Amino acid sequence: MSPANLLKEPICKWGRKAIEKNLELLSADVVAAPRFICSKCGRAAAQKKNLCKAKKLPY
Ligand SMILES: [Zn+2]
Repeated sequence: MSPANLLKEPICKWGRKAIEKNLELLSADVVAAPRFICSKCGRAAAQKKNLCKAKKLPY
């Protein structure tokens, strides 16, 4: 999957390979300055759409 398409999926659904391959993109765009946390998976991201069950971080 291309990075652009991958970004339309919540990072919760990314496979291990996708994470490994796109680690730079992930760290620069998705996980930097997180504002949401996934209440199901415990992952954090800047945008709600990046998580499957996003909850706003309380800070
Ligand atoms: Zn999730």
